[in-house]
Amino acid sequence: MTEFELPIRQDLIGHTPYGAPQQAVRARLNVNENPFPPSIELREALAEAVSSASENLNRYPDREAVQLRNSLSAYIERETGVSIGIDRIWSANGSNEIMSQIFSAFGGPSRSALTFPPTYSMYPEYSRNSFTQLLSVDRDINFGIDVESACQAIVELRPTLVLIASPNNPTGNAIAIHDLETIIECARVNQALVVVDEAYAEFRRDIESTAVRLIDKYPNVIVTRTLSKAFGFAGGRVGYCLTSTSEIVQTLMLVRLPYHLSALTQAAAVTALAHDFELREQVSILREQRDRIVSELHAMGLDVAPSDANFVFFGTFPDRHAIWQGLCDQGVLIRETGPDHWLRVSVGTPEENLLFLDSLREVIRASH
Ligand SMILES: *Cc1c(COP(=O)(O)O)cnc(C)c1O
Repeated sequence: MTEFELPIRQDLIGHTPYGAPQQAVRARLNVNENPFPPSIELREALAEAVSSASENLNRYPDREAVQLRNSLSAYIERETGVSIGIDRIWSANGSNEIMSQIFSAFGGPSRSALTFPPTYSMYPEYSRNSFTQLLSVDRDINFGIDVESACQAIVELRPTLVLIASPNNPTGNAIAIHDLETIIECARVNQALVVVDEAYAEFRRDIESTAVRLIDKYPNVIVTRTLSKAFGFAGGRVGYCLTSTSEIVQTLMLVRLPYHLSALTQAAAVTALAHDFELREQVSILREQRDRIVSELHAMGLDVAPSDANFVFFGTFPDRHAIWQGLCDQGVLIRETGPDHWLRVSVGTPEENLLFLDSLREVIRASH
């Protein structure tokens, strides 16, 4: 081939793409998926919905995804008791795409976004891709957000976006609602939107504790959610957001790609949402399992962050990679992420969790 120098953007040189291993091991506990596959009934319903949507596959899909947004509205009312019209609901391919649309619409050159690390590893990528400056205020040693420092940063640095993952990934803890309200109010008077990333909301311990309950009270809130975690629909790629005002949704529509959500995705998601009763049972099993993992890890003398999610963050290990590798050798894949000396494990099926706990005891014993 003749010579060619790829005109890659200067700021992308040397970066590696986001990704965690996708290996066929005995227990895949590294990306916080729901470990239970869809039921036969749901799979049959999905096949039927996809088949029927295929009748019109020669046509572009509904750009506005009206039926899906109606289903999301009904689901949110069931899950939180809050009624939100579809003019304040928006959906895309995963909450990752929602977040990238938020950055395109409200970030950009000469603007900034405030985050609270350790937190979701995609935030730096959204900001890089949209030329938004990334600002951060570190969490305290218990992985909590110090409200006063957060407000001070908002006043002094004037970000247009404030990103709060709650429950936070990778630490698992949720922010208290009154703290969240203080930050939202502080952001409001400083012209900032607060994006609350509630990817794990369905696993929260205090059912009242969701930012969805604040979106009617404040004009500057976006809550993002997803079908990827509790819903067991990670492969379907559907995320959504709920917003204080319809103006926010209209702004997101300016930057979305045309026909971004395929007709097949929309049809499948509507069907999955109609089967949320299946999910409720799974979520309660996963919650119980999570609390068991937390107490077993405590019993091993480990530090464990309180978890409102479907994963547990634990430590501390002088050499966390050795522990990770030891587990991996036993067919248990967890995640080496977040602050050094800590590890994250997703809640799996009861059998997978037992395998994880037994293997961990073994690996710790061997390392002494
Ligand atoms: C998993 C996760 C998401 C979900 O991403 P999708 O694109 O909806 O699959 C969003 N935010 C956080 C913090 C996550 O951990």
